[in-house]
Amino acid sequence: MTLDHPLTTLPPAQAPADLGRDLITVTTRPDTVFVQGRGDWLEDAQGKRYLDLVQGWAVNCLGHSPPLVVQALTAQAQRLINPSPAFHNQPLLDLAAKLVAVSGFDRVYLSNSGAEANEAAVKLARRWGQRMRGGAHSIISFDGGFHGRTLAMMSASGKPGWDRLFAPMPGGFAKARYNDIASVEQAITPDTVAVMLELVQGEAGVQLADPGFVRDLRALTTERGVLLIVDEVQTGIGRCGQAFAHQLYGIEPDVVTLGKGIGGGVPLAAVLCRERFNCFAPGDQGGTYGGNPLMAAVGLAVVSEVCSATFLAGVRQRAQQLSDGLQAIVRDHGLVAERGAGLLRALVLPDDRAEQVVAAARDLAPAGLLLNAPRPHLLRLMPALNIGHAEIDTALALLRQALAAVATR
Ligand SMILES: *Cc1c(COP(=O)(O)O)cnc(C)c1O
Repeated sequence: MTLDHPLTTLPPAQAPADLGRDLITVTTRPDTVFVQGRGDWLEDAQGKRYLDLVQGWAVNCLGHSPPLVVQALTAQAQRLINPSPAFHNQPLLDLAAKLVAVSGFDRVYLSNSGAEANEAAVKLARRWGQRMRGGAHSIISFDGGFHGRTLAMMSASGKPGWDRLFAPMPGGFAKARYNDIASVEQAITPDTVAVMLELVQGEAGVQLADPGFVRDLRALTTERGVLLIVDEVQTGIGRCGQAFAHQLYGIEPDVVTLGKGIGGGVPLAAVLCRERFNCFAPGDQGGTYGGNPLMAAVGLAVVSEVCSATFLAGVRQRAQQLSDGLQAIVRDHGLVAERGAGLLRALVLPDDRAEQVVAAARDLAPAGLLLNAPRPHLLRLMPALNIGHAEIDTALALLRQALAAVATR
């Protein structure tokens, strides 16, 4: 494993037995503390290295601590960190102009997380409904969908059980079945103001929308005067091999939300909309950190790099290499399938041992492999969009080892 920017050798540290005891419990984490990362590799406090196909949950689109991001962050930090959201700043204006140029949308709102961008999109739709559609406010979203963890976005998401977890939940969200246009038609009422969906349901296990369904949905929403909001928090900014997944489907949404990859690892998200939906009154929407120059400067560097034709061609090439390798693994290890779009890929297992494979891959020596299991029978791979060709081969070899280790247990 050769590195462009070698990791520093740190003194070995022992993980304390009661790691995380000061944290409010929200998840279970392995007994590992990660201390540095470069490109495709992460290193823990014991000095063990891991080839990372999680990449901060698909956020590090250029890998760990890429020079481009470090440079944008440090240069901007020295110039201006936060003049307040009440004033313009240059990176905010420049990133908005860049997003308009690469997307063809007319207007941009910046926020700090995907959930927040989706909240803003829902508010925009409701405001438009008040002004133009006689108070229509209800949003149709989909079974299996994931839109974030605020209370309203939990209502918008279609995760089983989420409608009761923190009851009472905000109302105004109706559910339809993914890839079932009749179920959308049935769910539309005079109160419906928007339909919101992911074109690839990431958390649900990399479920792809059918092209026919997406075309029908665009036609239906246009016909009924209902906004089409596409949540591209996971699929946008090159992840699926185009700047935006909706370009793969050949449709033009009314509103698009972005997050994850747009910040290359730092908290940044965005809402894009057409001019006719630019309907907030001053004061309707905002946030202390939204559009701060520090994150916007990083976003500008990331979007400029990733949304270029040459970079995107490289993503498609890497995606093909990864997909070919995964298909060979499916054949050799008797798995069910491999699927995905671009570098958002999944491996479907014949049984519910995805968590065991994740643990076995992490525990490989001398180098581990980091994977994610969003469903009990499914592994998700979301490497850096500039992952090395050699690293893809290494990842495939490590994955074979992990599958073999679990198979013989
Ligand atoms: C991750 C994700 C979100 C939530 O983004 P946060 O930054 O965690 O709030 C929303 N929608 C989709 C499709 C996502 O993958």
